[in-house]
Amino acid sequence: MAQGAIRVGHCIADPGRAAASAFAAEIAFGDGRITHVSPLDRAALTAHEARAIALPGLANAHDHGRGVSNLAFGAIDGPLETWLAGLARAPRLDPYACAALAFAAMAGSGVCATNHCHNTQSSLTLLDEAEGVSRAARDVGIRVAFCWPFFDRNPVVYGDPAPLARWLLADEVPLAVPFRPAPRNFELIEQALAFEHPLFQIQYQPVGPQWCRDETLIAIAEASAITGRGVHMHMFETRRQREWADAAYADEGGLVAFLDTIGLLSPRLTLAHGVWFEDDELALLGERGVNLSVNNSSNLRLRSGRAALPAMRRHGLSVGLGMDAMSLDDDDDMLREARLAWRLHAARLHTADIFDMACRTGRSGIVGQDGGGVIAVGAPADILVLDAETLLADRIGDGTALPALVLERATRRDVDRLFVAGREVVRGGMATGIDAAALRARTIEQARAEARDNPPDLARIARMETALTKYYAAGLHKEGGR
Ligand SMILES: [Zn+2]
Repeated sequence: MAQGAIRVGHCIADPGRAAASAFAAEIAFGDGRITHVSPLDRAALTAHEARAIALPGLANAHDHGRGVSNLAFGAIDGPLETWLAGLARAPRLDPYACAALAFAAMAGSGVCATNHCHNTQSSLTLLDEAEGVSRAARDVGIRVAFCWPFFDRNPVVYGDPAPLARWLLADEVPLAVPFRPAPRNFELIEQALAFEHPLFQIQYQPVGPQWCRDETLIAIAEASAITGRGVHMHMFETRRQREWADAAYADEGGLVAFLDTIGLLSPRLTLAHGVWFEDDELALLGERGVNLSVNNSSNLRLRSGRAALPAMRRHGLSVGLGMDAMSLDDDDDMLREARLAWRLHAARLHTADIFDMACRTGRSGIVGQDGGGVIAVGAPADILVLDAETLLADRIGDGTALPALVLERATRRDVDRLFVAGREVVRGGMATGIDAAALRARTIEQARAEARDNPPDLARIARMETALTKYYAAGLHKEGGR
């Protein structure tokens, strides 16, 4: 394991604590953990060291690690339900390359740990895809929770697909979709455990309650209780999902009550989005110790609404911030994602709340409680170092607290180094473990060739998008069908 030490002019050791301050320090680490944090005289530092700002590495609490942007192949932002159909435009891509490019981009903005909700391109290759993502996590060097997809209900719409026939050609109505059965998924996970390593752990991912049969949700709740393995699920991302659930689970007192009955609500569970929770539901989730990931950029881009982030914090929920592979500027910049949460909720949150989510609580749904999210002796050596040449260029006196300055201004341009478990995975703003520029050029070239050789059926996709729009406009998802 890597050993070493860094010297920085400004160490913000615990930015999630109100009134956190910065001090010049030497931070040493060994065996993946911080071994000492010693205050220094800033005058003893080089100019480069003196303008360095160290803070705990950031956690990306919900993502898909796409690597190649949806915008690159024509899946333009829109309401989630129709946008999902547009993903059929994607060319076939190498799963290792996609994950490695995504992880390298995240690391370049300070992400030391990420959730990876895997979108498989083929049921038959899922095991190989998991191996590729595992290798990407090792090569790039960030911590990855690989969330294994369980998807066996409502393949195209929430509810009965038969009415889609009004708007589609006869052979296009998806009535019999070959799902990967849940027992097969559990078998595959057993095999995939061979790919686990200190930076790569597998979790169960019921993709969303509307996309998973009740018996599958029950089986996952039981498996998680036995194995202790985490569960990650999209939940109440859109108003339509909420409307479907309210109708489908009316007899059970609502979907949240149902999930509680089957034992899914626990500290092992992370729910992504949660835009449409009611306040009493958030209170229950808080009592059960559930983690949430708020994904503001994605919610804006997919017209999903705005999560009640201050209420989630008030109910004691462990909240993280996630980019969902749909960041505000489509650039996987976690520093901007943190700023967006701040901009949206500054009236009701403190700077420290944002850092607490970005560094500490968002991490728990990925790696559990490992003492990370602070720079302190014994904590994991996950350290982000910014070069403050630009950030501090116009600072006059010490009037502006550094945590505020970072939150208000920093972007990936300011990232100098990132250490994960003491390994330097970013230097000079660039990933050290892979040649990201070359891999990106190769991957885009392959994607263009694939799109040329196997072009998507654009007319068919457009018909499906129109049919979905009409299906939901007609309120057909509110008829109580499961
Ligand atoms: Zn997502």
